[in-house]
Amino acid sequence: MLSHIVYLSDSTNFISWDLIKDILLFSDENNKNKNVTGILFGHSMNFLQVLEGDKAVIKNLYEHIAKDERHQNIILLEFVPITERKFSDWSMRGFNFNNLPKEKQQHILNKYCGAGEEFFLPTETKSCLAFIDELTQL
Ligand code: FAD
Repeated sequence: MLSHIVYLSDSTNFISWDLIKDILLFSDENNKNKNVTGILFGHSMNFLQVLEGDKAVIKNLYEHIAKDERHQNIILLEFVPITERKFSDWSMRGFNFNNLPKEKQQHILNKYCGAGEEFFLPTETKSCLAFIDELTQL
């Protein structure tokens, strides 16, 4: 059954675009082989990932990813059936927040991440999905 998993985690080190690229390099082929699609957002110390695919396959992949020492404090937000994929073109899309124009970054930060100096992702599933939708439409 086609399903998606949405989770948040804390990176063990400050997230650089090189770290995301390293993860994507491996994920691209591995996810393709498993017919898994999705998006990986990482910024500051926060990861947000959506995995789409067969229920059992993404469950196994999620449990495997959860053991990766590059992140911790993993919070599973949602694991539900879906009718269609949002990221059908991407075995795993990485999103580089720093590449957005400054005013768009600010808009996103004000809307989803609170007004503080530190970057935090929203912790509600609905807000995380809206955040991803807005990022990918920009
Ligand atoms: P491993 O022997 O664990 O690692 C293979 C390669 O992964 C290594 O050569 C190295 O490049 C890298 N690696 C693994 N652990 C470390 C580490 N601690 N420090 C530096 N490099 C390391 N994998 C997917 O296949 N699909 C995904 O969608 C996916 N998403 C991820 C999201 C996040 C936030 C993180 C942190 C990792 C993600 N991974 C994903 C990677 C996954 O956790 C495993 O590292 C990967 O699947 C390889 O596992 P392995 O047991 O086959 O090989």
